[in-house]
Amino acid sequence: MLRLESLSCGYGQMRAVHALDLEARTGRITALLGANGAGKSSTIMCIAGHVDVFEGRVLYKEAAITGWNPMQRVKAGIGLVPEGRRLFSSLSVRENLVIGGYCRAKADTAAGVDQVVQMFPRLGERFHQRAGSLSGGEQQMLSIGRALMSQPELLLIDELSLGLMPKAIDICYAVIADLKAKGMTIVLVEQSTQRALEVADDVTVLESGAVVWRGSAQDARESTEMIDASLGLT
Ligand code: ATP
Repeated sequence: MLRLESLSCGYGQMRAVHALDLEARTGRITALLGANGAGKSSTIMCIAGHVDVFEGRVLYKEAAITGWNPMQRVKAGIGLVPEGRRLFSSLSVRENLVIGGYCRAKADTAAGVDQVVQMFPRLGERFHQRAGSLSGGEQQMLSIGRALMSQPELLLIDELSLGLMPKAIDICYAVIADLKAKGMTIVLVEQSTQRALEVADDVTVLESGAVVWRGSAQDARESTEMIDASLGLT
């Protein structure tokens, strides 16, 4: 579904990611792990078209999309749940969802909102409440829901569990497992290695913008070397 070929990206003169090769296979969850500053967010934001590519290519469904802008990528089926949620805090839950479906037909938007509310009943209970007044967990649910409104085939999630209560983490992870069961391809950035390994199929660990470990989630679960790498202890 997605392939990064020798991708280097960053900000101005600063390279955050160096010659990264990464593949996210269809219907699988690829976890991107690593300590703070390892380059996980830069990679995700580069796939979404928000960070400049210096070298290399981004291939989506075999097409080179390296030069595409973020909106083209959303329309092509790449959804983003960004770190920190980035909701429209003064708008309601409903309005945030409708904005997420801006590239869909109006009738589809209504159906999409219904689907998201079925997935996250809590959002239905808060439907007309301002996003800024939601709990952190509810905001994360809304951020996932907003991304789903564009009907993505590839979902990019940056820091799913960061700062959330355990109950909210459980709800978000249950939805992620459900999306995977329905065939969604997911790239998941997580600071919680344990949580990520519960759902992931494939794992890549970054350190200082480069790959230090790569393998299956099963191998990762059995590898203390991987755990150390993901925590930046290597
Ligand atoms: P974290 O978990 O702390 O978000 P991360 O693995 O996601 O870490 P990135 O946020 O991608 O790492 O950061 C990689 C490098 O890029 C770091 O050295 C960071 O300081 C730098 N960086 C990130 N965002 C910017 C920016 N907007 N401008 C300049 N440098 C940045």
